[in-house]
Amino acid sequence: GMSAPLAVARLAPPGFKLNPVPPPARRRGRVVVVASASPSANIYSARGDENPYEVLGVDVTASKRAVRDAFRAAAKRAHPDTPGGSAKAFDALAKAADVLTDDARRAQLDAVLLDVPADSLSLEELRWSRELAALREAEDAGEVKDPAAVLEAARAYAAAEKALDAIAKRKKKAEDAEKLRRKEDALRASQAARLEITSRIATKGSRGNDVAVTMTVTSEMLTEALEAQSSGGKKVPDRVTLPLRTTTMVNCAKCDGWGEKEGHWTLALDKLCVKCGGMCRVEKTSTVRVPLRVDASDGERVVVEGAGDEGYRKQVTALGEMTEPGPGGDLIVTVALLRDGETTRR
Ligand SMILES: [Zn+2]
Repeated sequence: GMSAPLAVARLAPPGFKLNPVPPPARRRGRVVVVASASPSANIYSARGDENPYEVLGVDVTASKRAVRDAFRAAAKRAHPDTPGGSAKAFDALAKAADVLTDDARRAQLDAVLLDVPADSLSLEELRWSRELAALREAEDAGEVKDPAAVLEAARAYAAAEKALDAIAKRKKKAEDAEKLRRKEDALRASQAARLEITSRIATKGSRGNDVAVTMTVTSEMLTEALEAQSSGGKKVPDRVTLPLRTTTMVNCAKCDGWGEKEGHWTLALDKLCVKCGGMCRVEKTSTVRVPLRVDASDGERVVVEGAGDEGYRKQVTALGEMTEPGPGGDLIVTVALLRDGETTRR
């Protein structure tokens, strides 16, 4: 019920300062966000152990009382003497309840499920949330009756709320620091990437890199391509083209290879291009048609001009005006010819 804090207020002697007790709505609405619970729970299952929370069907914030209640309810149905029950099912429930009512074992389990170290703030948050749940349940069960118990409960509520607020603040601070660290890493990486591009253009020019790939073909593929590509013609071609999926580096299309968003003067955190992350260049996968001799031999090299990495753009002004890209590098294809019946390279 909601009477406990009010009762305390009436009981407080003159001059006695109560810890502020948050309104019940807030207290009841607290939700502990356990972001990694599901994937880790799967890992737990994958190890061959059953997740005790799933076995008993209780939440991670469940109090010991809630765990015992869940066990009693499920045990009736699972008891070997009950139709449909079995010793195995009953044992699984008992084992799960044992773990969840043992503080040390439960803390170990939580650390595994949440994939956090034993001294993690998330575990501390869980412990206090359970403390709150236990207080609420004792109140709902009508166990908080005499003035001393009411006062004690109100103090415990306030202590739990205070601890949870402090944990929330520490978590927020840690998250903010982590965000800032990631941004600074991104900025450093972007600056390094730009420096590399600038010095590359200065020493080798703006032409893109050549890209070397191996293309596996069978004589059947060549024959089929020949049939398809020579239909109608009088002269049988001595070359056919076969498609090849290749991944090359190109200038980021969003920032034209500048690495920044528009509309500012200095490189700063939050101003990196959202597409390339300030790296100026991105990977692109495309299909290149590679011309091959009909009687191509194993190990033969074919150069597809301009199909390698895209040429570099050079920054012209501080506002990110870029030159047109330099010439593309070449795609250097080495043919791996499979013999009849072979499906992979030896
Ligand atoms: Zn970009």
